[in-house]
Amino acid sequence: MKKILLKGSTSHLEKKGLLLDHNLLFVEECLDVGCQYNCLKCFSKGSKRFQNLSHIKFSHSIRIKLMKEAKKLGAKTLIISGEGESFLFRDIEEIINLTNKLKMNMIIFTNGLSLNQKKIKEYFSKGVSLIISIDSLNEKTYDKLTRTKGNFQKAITNLKTALKISKDYQYKFGGYKIVPIAINTNPTVLTYNPHKGINEIERIKQMIKDDAVYFLSHITPEGNAISNWEILIGNKKINKNKELEKISEEYSTGTGASGKRKDKKCAYTLNGIAHYKGYWIICPQSNYINPSLRFPKMSVSEWVQIKNKKLNKLKNQVCLFKK
Ligand code: SF4
Repeated sequence: MKKILLKGSTSHLEKKGLLLDHNLLFVEECLDVGCQYNCLKCFSKGSKRFQNLSHIKFSHSIRIKLMKEAKKLGAKTLIISGEGESFLFRDIEEIINLTNKLKMNMIIFTNGLSLNQKKIKEYFSKGVSLIISIDSLNEKTYDKLTRTKGNFQKAITNLKTALKISKDYQYKFGGYKIVPIAINTNPTVLTYNPHKGINEIERIKQMIKDDAVYFLSHITPEGNAISNWEILIGNKKINKNKELEKISEEYSTGTGASGKRKDKKCAYTLNGIAHYKGYWIICPQSNYINPSLRFPKMSVSEWVQIKNKKLNKLKNQVCLFKK
């Protein structure tokens, strides 16, 4: 049994008995922001689809209004997933302070590069849980994957610092260890290839020990990943997708921010709401797979009602946009 949970995640809230069908548990904000990297796998870079939306801004005052309403409706966690690096977003400190003031959990996805000891302590003390991405502990491979040079040492130092500091913020609940940190890896043939004696996944897991939730997720064939698919996953003849999926399950010690509930249903569609540049979206994936599933500005309660109506029509369909 998995005995470690990320603070504020769906699994944690479910364990606390807060997860029911259709109750609002989390709000996700998909930030539109740049990044220090230009990863081979990045699903947002290289995508030109949203350029026509660049005039729509999601102001902090609108965010305050929506967050207060979401909190009233029962939301417990704000998830910040960057379409880029979250900590480069201009309003990130205001968002952290607002969420802290509302006494809500907050989960932020990051590549870890702009963190430091002082900031990490401040974020954990303000109730932030960090999901830090790392795909390789080998400098050359790291540089190749991120298409940059000279960032590896800083990224690893920050990751280790966060792991160390996070221990002061762990606690026990219902036989589980609740931690404010998770590490996320996207396995590729560059980092997992047992025939060549390469297993970065094992190395990362050994480094983390049981100080953080470790979860592996799949690369989506979007943005940069489309043209780099063969380098990352293999060609049609030697497609490693299935093997990498199996490895992901084997090595994951828990789940990330939202994702699947215990009953295997999607927590996004049933318990969360997400927005991107002022639009309500079903989830970050739907934003890419079916951009027509974007809905204009409206209040949280209106959006929750509309979404639930759609769900009622699709009783047995877990995912709203995939057939
Ligand atoms: S995958 Fe993440 S770290 Fe890499 S370029 Fe995209 S947003 Fe940045």
